[in-house]
Amino acid sequence: MNQHQKQKINHTTILNEILANDYIFQDIPYKEQIKHATALIKESEYILIGAGAGISTAAGLTYNGKRFTDNFSEFIKKYGTIYMKDMYTAGFYPFPTQEEKWGYWSKHSLLNRFLPPALPLYKQLYDIIKEKNYFVLTTNVDHQFYKSGFEAKRIFATQGDYGAIQCEKACHPKIYNAKKQFYEMDKARQNCMIPSYMVPKCPVCGGNMTMHLRSDNYFVEDENWHNMASHYIDFLEKMHGKKSVLLELGVGFNTPAIIRFPFEKMTYENSNLSLIRLNLNEAMVPEILEDRVIGIGGDMSKTISDLHSQK
Ligand SMILES: [Zn+2]
Repeated sequence: MNQHQKQKINHTTILNEILANDYIFQDIPYKEQIKHATALIKESEYILIGAGAGISTAAGLTYNGKRFTDNFSEFIKKYGTIYMKDMYTAGFYPFPTQEEKWGYWSKHSLLNRFLPPALPLYKQLYDIIKEKNYFVLTTNVDHQFYKSGFEAKRIFATQGDYGAIQCEKACHPKIYNAKKQFYEMDKARQNCMIPSYMVPKCPVCGGNMTMHLRSDNYFVEDENWHNMASHYIDFLEKMHGKKSVLLELGVGFNTPAIIRFPFEKMTYENSNLSLIRLNLNEAMVPEILEDRVIGIGGDMSKTISDLHSQK
């Protein structure tokens, strides 16, 4: 492989280096795993946290079940249960009007971004790593890391923010905090719709606005996004050669190329790194990493709490 090809990392090249059949569910008693993880965290100079949807689900921000049906009964009645079966799928409903689109998203945003306080699981996690040199790479858009004490300059939220909106066609590289608008929409919503005068319009092109979420090629990467991307690279450079831990929390296979596969690859290539993977059902790890990897399945809120009490 020449240098040019090496720069392009995708899941095939990663799986070529760590063979797919090398993945195992570790057969190590839970107590020993906690002890080992605690020791690795204590001894580490740097901690890189990689967090996906699973950590927020474990923290209580569940997208299905009662939390969905209680809050969205009006939407379920109006739109049916094909899309309106959980807050993830509901977001893909092809709302025919802007009034309906914002009727839904204002509610979704309040419930998952603005109304919840810092949740105990996140606060415990912060307490575990707060004295460390840490950085957070996350695909989550619910702002829990910011709320729980993690410094904003150490959080790279690559996929957006439920609290912000942007031009639907990304005509200019800016995002807008929509907290005030969403609260107003929530009060004014009738039959799942907001009044037409509340529909946000792009201040530059006059077109429609959309949620600041990476869902198509029009996702706005603003100045702050680029700054955080370079802080992340700086952190990786500082971490290089130092005894460090990659702490992967609730990262599944929706977007494994952002956190899951790169974390495995980094650990594979740097003997000073260890990988701790917490995941409800998908805590399998590459066996080739031997005692530099810990994969703990099951409820993460218990695992974080146990790591916290060992601290
Ligand atoms: Zn525009």
